[in-house]
Amino acid sequence: MPLSPKSVLNNAVVRAALKQAWQDSNPGVTGEHEEGGFVLQDAANSLSILRWPKGLQDSIFVSLHRGCRIDEQDIVASFHTHPNTGGDFLQEPSETDKRAVRDDPDLKGPAYVGEFVISQATIYLITPAGQVREVDDTQAVFAE
Ligand SMILES: [Zn+2]
Repeated sequence: MPLSPKSVLNNAVVRAALKQAWQDSNPGVTGEHEEGGFVLQDAANSLSILRWPKGLQDSIFVSLHRGCRIDEQDIVASFHTHPNTGGDFLQEPSETDKRAVRDDPDLKGPAYVGEFVISQATIYLITPAGQVREVDDTQAVFAE
């Protein structure tokens, strides 16, 4: 049975990886850059993380993921950070972010729940259909 977005987020491996990505992206108003990656699930249902190569200030290179799989593992989620905490910077997922998920045929596997976008205050989810919703409070997730 596929995992729910919440249960992916509740996984300790995933939480630690999202927190690490957030810290690595050097959040603030200068010198920040996006980080991201995939959450993978193996045949024994355990989750692991594949980080993408380091991004530029507001873009990122997504690793190849044909058929929503990496090697023998299913992609269950993707994630990236929005580390610019300045007030005039968009915190929620951008139109480009939504399109990137919605229009990617290789992000449509049965196990894929969507892409988490981590901002200072809120963790958003872009569903495979490109809809956005808030799934959790960032600082609450990182405090656990
Ligand atoms: Zn983004």
